[in-house]
Amino acid sequence: MNTFEELFDDLKGKAKTVYGTASKMTSDAVDIGKVRYQIKQTQWEIEKTYARIGAVVYESKKGGENLDDVIALAIAEVDAHNERLEELERRLRSYKRVDKCPACGKENDVDASFCSRCGATLVREQPVEEPENEGEE
Ligand SMILES: [Zn+2]
Repeated sequence: MNTFEELFDDLKGKAKTVYGTASKMTSDAVDIGKVRYQIKQTQWEIEKTYARIGAVVYESKKGGENLDDVIALAIAEVDAHNERLEELERRLRSYKRVDKCPACGKENDVDASFCSRCGATLVREQPVEEPENEGEE
């Protein structure tokens, strides 16, 4: 008598599986995109801060005003941005490790469909946890 409910549960279960897979893939892609965007953003912030340091030094020298405090703050800002940049690049590298070529072991860009060294198709379904093999032919 519960045919409809069974069917419904079955569909619900399938939908959950499909949704789970899809959302995981999306979130991975979004993460990589987000990290890349944040790296660009941070690099841009560093450029801007450098420019500001230049402007402050210029004003300071020209106006004879001591702006060392402002300069020190800006330098601390650059340092903070650089630390963030390192952290973001580390994260990006950890994503990229998944894209090791299964044929030759070369690390490829996450967006690449084929290995840039040997041309093998890159499948990124499961992260490869194999220890590095020294056997290069
Ligand atoms: Zn390869």
